Amino acid sequence: MELVFATNNKHKLEELQAMLGKQIKLLSLKDIGCKEEIPEEQETLQGNAAQKAFYVYNKYGYNCFADDTGLEIEALNGEPGVYSARYAGEEKSAEANMLKVLEKLAKINNRKARFRTVISLVVNGDEKQFEGAVEGEILKEKRGEEGFGYDPIFQPTGYSQTFAEMDLSEKNNISHRGKAVEKLVNHLKNV
Ligand code: IMP
Repeated sequence: MELVFATNNKHKLEELQAMLGKQIKLLSLKDIGCKEEIPEEQETLQGNAAQKAFYVYNKYGYNCFADDTGLEIEALNGEPGVYSARYAGEEKSAEANMLKVLEKLAKINNRKARFRTVISLVVNGDEKQFEGAVEGEILKEKRGEEGFGYDPIFQPTGYSQTFAEMDLSEKNNISHRGKAVEKLVNHLKNV
């Protein structure tokens, strides 16, 4: 089965490529000639994932899935959430985003946070959603060089390493996106 993954994020493509079996041939946005930025104007992860998947399906005619992920920090009422990519500004700097989180939490003891991913799959115009989450805490300092985004400051519950200190397969086994993708893959196997 050929499926478009509506992303321009190289890291996420690599992560997913590692998780998907040979039965599914993944196409990137580049592969289908989609060069424009896909609108993400909704206020929920569910809304954004669906908007992206339907955009590709409607405009390019490919079955498609799209994901949207947010880091939800309890003491910040769920921030940065749907604004995770551009928390510190439109330049979408991971360094600036982490700094903003660390500054906002500087005097706060409750460090509880979770990553949540919603995947929207659109096949022949019908949509299905899959969700995955991982609980953890925001550290006081960055640790590790792997991964991307907020990985260096997020330590999943029950582990002594941040996501940025884990190798890709270890992170995939427990991550928000890994869990959502597992549900997606199980669904696709039964189609
Ligand atoms: P997206 O919806 O997957 O593009 O994610 C939005 C933003 O959340 C990204 O720009 C990152 O800042 C952050 N993010 C998403 N997934 C991860 C992850 O696995 N680790 C760390 N940060 C992530």
